[in-house]
Amino acid sequence: MFAVKRALKLNNKEATWMSKHAGFRRVVFNMGLSLRTQMYGEGKFSDSKIINELKKVLTNHVKKQPEFAWMNQLSSRVYQNALIDLKEAFSRYRLGKARHPRFASRRDGQSFTVDSSNGKVLLNAGSTIKIPTLGTFRLYEPLECGFVTQTFTISKEGNIWFVSFSVDAERLPIQQRKSSVGIDLGIKSFVTLSNARVFDAPKPLKQVKTKLAQLQRKAHRQVKCSKNQRKTYDKIGKLHGRIAWIRKDFLHKLTTYLTQTFEQIKIEDLNVSGMMANHKLAGAIADLGFYEFRRQLEYKCQMYGANLVLVDRWFPSSKLCSNCGHKKDMPLSVRTYDCPVCDLSVDRDLNASLNILNWEPSA
Ligand SMILES: [Zn+2]
Repeated sequence: MFAVKRALKLNNKEATWMSKHAGFRRVVFNMGLSLRTQMYGEGKFSDSKIINELKKVLTNHVKKQPEFAWMNQLSSRVYQNALIDLKEAFSRYRLGKARHPRFASRRDGQSFTVDSSNGKVLLNAGSTIKIPTLGTFRLYEPLECGFVTQTFTISKEGNIWFVSFSVDAERLPIQQRKSSVGIDLGIKSFVTLSNARVFDAPKPLKQVKTKLAQLQRKAHRQVKCSKNQRKTYDKIGKLHGRIAWIRKDFLHKLTTYLTQTFEQIKIEDLNVSGMMANHKLAGAIADLGFYEFRRQLEYKCQMYGANLVLVDRWFPSSKLCSNCGHKKDMPLSVRTYDCPVCDLSVDRDLNASLNILNWEPSA
C-alpha cells in the first residue's frame, strides 16, 4: 500500500464546495458524538450497533428538519465516513490506544473523506481527477498513470486543498524525472514549488534563541578577557554552530531533492543585496539563507545535469493570474490570489511559482 497525494486546482466555487463538505463532516461527527454519549454512556453495546442506531436517528429525524436541509445537497458519503470515523475513534479509545473522542473544531483543520459506494474506481492518468460523489477537479501535478482505489481524503493545508488516496500495490511506478518546476522564494514559506509542495525553513528553536540571549547578557557582565568570559563565548560559539548546522542540513536536503528530481528549475533572479538593504527584510533573509540556497542550487544543477533558469527579477510573478494572465496588485498581506476574470482562487505563493514555471525569456 502506498499513498498518492495531489494538490487540487480549484476555482472559488469549488473551494467553497470543499469547505462546505468539511463543515458537514464536522457537524455529523459532533452530532454523532453527542448523541452517542447521551444515549449509551460507556460500554454495554457494540460500536457497530450504536453507530447503526445513530445513523437511523440522523437519517430519519435530523436530516428531515428544515434547518438541516443543506445536508441533503452535499455528498452523503461524507456523512457515512464521518460516522465510520466516530466508530473507529471509539474503538481506539476502548483499546487504550487513544483518548476519549473529542468534539471536532474548525481549528483542528478542514478535512473529510468520501468513497465510492460501488467498490473500487479507476482513476485515469492525466491532469484531472474524478472524485466519487464530488465531481471532476483539475490537478496541479498530473497523475502519471492510472490508479485503482476507493476512498479519498480531502484536506486543506495552508491555503491549498489536497486529495489523497491509497493504492494497493508494492511500490509506486518508477518515477521519471519530471521536466520543469517553478520555485517561489518567500518569507512565510521558504520555498513553494509549482507542484504545490511547500518547504518551510526550520526555525531555530525558541529555547535555543533564549539561551543565546542569556549567554550574551552574561558575557557582557563578565570581566573582559577573563577565563569565565572566554568560557561563555565558547558556549555561544557552539550554539551558533548548532543553529547553522540545522539550517545547512535543511538547505542541502532541499537542493539535492530539487536537482535530482527536475530537469529544469526556474527561480527568480533575486537581487539579494538589494533586499538586504531593505532593513525590514534583511534579518529574515539573512536568517533564511536565500543566498546559500542559490549557491547550492547552482553547483548541484551542474553536478546532476539539471538546467537552472533565472527569471527576470522585474517579472511580476505575484501579480499575474497563473491561469489567464490577468494582472492586479497584490499587497503582501493578501495570501490568496482571487482572479476577478477567470475565478481562479489560489494560494499566493503557489500562484507565483506557477507564473515562474510558465515564464519564458523574451527573444
Ligand atoms: Zn485569471
